[in-house]
Amino acid sequence: MLADCSSLIDFDGVQFMKHQPLIVVREDSKKERHYQGIAAAPGILEGKIMLHLAMEQSMPLRKIQKIDIASEMERFEKALRLTQQELLEIKKHVIPCLDAHEAALFDAHLLVLEDPDLLKEVLELLRRDLINVEHVFDIVIKQFCDSLNKKESSYLRERIVDIKDVSRRILNHLLGKPKLQPIDHDEPIIIVANTLTLSDAVMVYGKKQTAFATETGSQTSHTAILARAFGIPAVVGLRHVLGELKNGEPAVLDGYHGLLIINPTYKSVGGYQLMHAAQQDLHKDLEKIRDMPATTQDGRRITLSANLELPGELDDIFSSGAEGIGLYRTEFLYLNRLTPPEEEEQYEVLCTIAKRCRPYHAIVRTFDIGADKLIYCLPSVKEVNPSLGCRGIRLALQHKELFKAQLRVILRAAKLGNIRMMYPMISGIEELREANAILEEVKQELRHKKISFKEDIEVGIMMEVPSAAMIADLMAREVSFFSIGTNDLVQYLTSVDRGNESISYLYNPAHPGVIRILKMIVDAAHAAGIWVGVCGELAGDPRFTPLLVGLGVNELSASAIFIPRIKKAIQSLDFSTCQDLVAQMLNEGNATKNYNRCVAFAHNEYGALL
Ligand code: PEP
Ligand code: MG
Repeated sequence: MLADCSSLIDFDGVQFMKHQPLIVVREDSKKERHYQGIAAAPGILEGKIMLHLAMEQSMPLRKIQKIDIASEMERFEKALRLTQQELLEIKKHVIPCLDAHEAALFDAHLLVLEDPDLLKEVLELLRRDLINVEHVFDIVIKQFCDSLNKKESSYLRERIVDIKDVSRRILNHLLGKPKLQPIDHDEPIIIVANTLTLSDAVMVYGKKQTAFATETGSQTSHTAILARAFGIPAVVGLRHVLGELKNGEPAVLDGYHGLLIINPTYKSVGGYQLMHAAQQDLHKDLEKIRDMPATTQDGRRITLSANLELPGELDDIFSSGAEGIGLYRTEFLYLNRLTPPEEEEQYEVLCTIAKRCRPYHAIVRTFDIGADKLIYCLPSVKEVNPSLGCRGIRLALQHKELFKAQLRVILRAAKLGNIRMMYPMISGIEELREANAILEEVKQELRHKKISFKEDIEVGIMMEVPSAAMIADLMAREVSFFSIGTNDLVQYLTSVDRGNESISYLYNPAHPGVIRILKMIVDAAHAAGIWVGVCGELAGDPRFTPLLVGLGVNELSASAIFIPRIKKAIQSLDFSTCQDLVAQMLNEGNATKNYNRCVAFAHNEYGALL
């Protein structure tokens, strides 16, 4: 999977393959080094590496020699001095605003830096383990915080936050990281992190000269989804890469093939410039079909709509040629804030969306909070297995007032445009009926208060929990549509965590079990006379378009960035030939063969789009 740049262009983009070991060239730090991860968001960025490390994340790990101990200690002491200057500087500015107690705390911060035991312990560990000082210091501090955590005194326990803050500053200096927030920058940067939370990712929204590279994650993790929504190239699943990188190193991130290249040669950069130019040409070509319908060669019409996370994406969505919004992930409205959004704020957002979408529909999904979409405005509950825990509709039913507030907003805003709504993570009939009963209650209250709203709003469900999919025929009688969430459906059906890079090779949507359940859902919907769409990442992946077309889905909803390609793919296909392909795949037990067959088919029809 490791390639030189000339062969990159021919690389077939297979992302469901098992990880290959990284090849790391350590003798010459200026030599070009390639790191293979998982392609998460398309695009190429040439820029400088910026390491983004949180305390909880894994620290770079490097073996050192005995003779390096003195220089590592020197680095450490320098970082302590710089942190001290930084804190004294901050103190000068903020002291007039602090009361005596807070000022004393500030001094306690400074004392941490002068603690002789700290130096002693770091030195001992350096000698014993012969590893880099950042890693040693990280261990020492974590042990210290653990021991404080066990203390009776709440005062001591509360000091953990201060200690972590000081340590973070020290680590930033050790790692040569200029600021705590790497988000303000003018030059192109590639942010490399172990994990980027959604809150981190949201902070780079609108910064076009940015790319992400993370050690964890997969194509369907929400940070990857967000990168695509923002048009930011990204590579995820670059395991253990942090220890090999330095701040400021020149690099190229190739989001098409999941590659991070450090110290690229002129030849490599040239290769990427050619690739970039080819992508731009393709983009221009695809613009010609922007206002055309997504219809197959033999006349099968498919609605092609877009997924929306933040309202700021609306311009990109409509310039992509999308026919409305197939999935609005409303949970993003609740992110990065301490209190839930007021109803009027939510209402304004939905009104904007409803008006912009006309005459097309916008499918508003009630909040799918939970799993990796964590928010601060609800009390956090630690769960051993959050993906199987209280998320989506389960959480909504447990926080009825929050849910009702959202339903009120959706019902009111639906008066202004073609708004439909759907519930996430429905696992069975009772849950659907309970949610609908709350919807009815909200309608009743609005009627009572004489507030105008859309009485006959269409209500659908996400089909993403296998138990609901298995009774799709029964569920279909109670809803207006299905939208298949393949990200979760594949995760739950195959028991493969969608965000776990180490098993991502098993996350195969072409698994015959997946194809069979997809067929069940589509057939059940059609038998009941309702339409069915796909809004998971599969909808935006041209490798699988023949499969989804052949299954007979009515709508595909994808990130705006993929809409032009998918439209072209649909226009190149023949519905009946795709049906034949599906018939073959349904009877093939081998998931890899199915995957290869599907990709080969797509390659044959529209290789340039892959
Ligand atoms: C899905 O599961 O496919 C989906 C679209 O929902 P989300 O990615 O937000 O879980
Ligand atoms: Mg989902």
